[in-house]
Amino acid sequence: MAATIIDGKAIAARVREDVARDVEAFTARTGHRPGLATILVGEDPASAIYVGGKQKASREVGIEPFDHRLPADASSDEVEGLIERLNADPAVNGILCQLPVPDHLDGVHLTGLIDAGKDVDGLTPLSAGLLALGREGLRPCTPAGVMVLLEEAGVQLRGKEAVVVGRSNLFGKPMAQLLLAADATVTTCHSRTADLPGVCRRADVLIVAVGRDRMVKRDWVKPGAVVIDVGMNRSDDGLHGDVDFAEVAEVASAITPVPGGVGPMTIAMLLRNTLQAAEMAHREVPA
Ligand code: NAP
Repeated sequence: MAATIIDGKAIAARVREDVARDVEAFTARTGHRPGLATILVGEDPASAIYVGGKQKASREVGIEPFDHRLPADASSDEVEGLIERLNADPAVNGILCQLPVPDHLDGVHLTGLIDAGKDVDGLTPLSAGLLALGREGLRPCTPAGVMVLLEEAGVQLRGKEAVVVGRSNLFGKPMAQLLLAADATVTTCHSRTADLPGVCRRADVLIVAVGRDRMVKRDWVKPGAVVIDVGMNRSDDGLHGDVDFAEVAEVASAITPVPGGVGPMTIAMLLRNTLQAAEMAHREVPA
């Protein structure tokens, strides 16, 4: 069997087009253009590239980017003060503190200060709580992007066995919650899981976010399963996922490639979250 390739690049492009159209409609209706503030502490080149990419993507869909940069030796008080000002600024609908922050700062503490209504990364304790309780809120971008990929690929989740490998706060835990909310029967695996290949073989939908180059092999996958590869592992011969794509594509019914699968969805969902945050803020404070 040759699996259908789930084209994350094309799906992310469609999400961005939808966001651009909805941002224009929102701006015309409310007179307010959604704004996304990014905070970058220090000069880490990779982080600067990520932040630049998010600002460019914002501009392309009509979201106003606000660029805040602090020196590498900025104190916690300075970053906290900036977050407080952005929390109070009505022009700013989303706040993103680029991680990692320099070692003397506590990234978990700092991101936790972001107002839940502006938490476009969906990673604060309040956002995590809203997700766990099934209440409206901003969802973490990468797992939310996987849900869009599954939907676009026509994957029915109700009653299906879904296995998530990885239990990080960033991905694995919110992914499992989203699948549960979609009525899948969910198992979450981690480094202490006994018989990981056996558990993976139960999955109708297998989602892997571990950070181990091509760990998941053909015989870990039930024939016909849908396989979503979140891993990003760089080596001398390029970027690879956590799934051995060449092998697994022979047994899966559908699979995401790396690159070009889950990766492009993350920024697309950040933009969608910023629009959602603007819509939530406008509902709370009607003009
Ligand atoms: P993480 O915080 O390092 O978590 C990795 C998880 O994998 C942990 O729960 C860990 O278990 C588990 N694990 C590690 N080795 C394992 C093994 N041999 N067998 C089973 N489970 C194992 O990583 P993360 O932030 O979730 O990211 C995971 C991967 O996804 C990385 O490659 C990352 O680059 C990628 N990622 C991509 C995107 C994107 O936009 N495409 C976004 C987020 C992450 P324990 O909890 O027991 O340690």
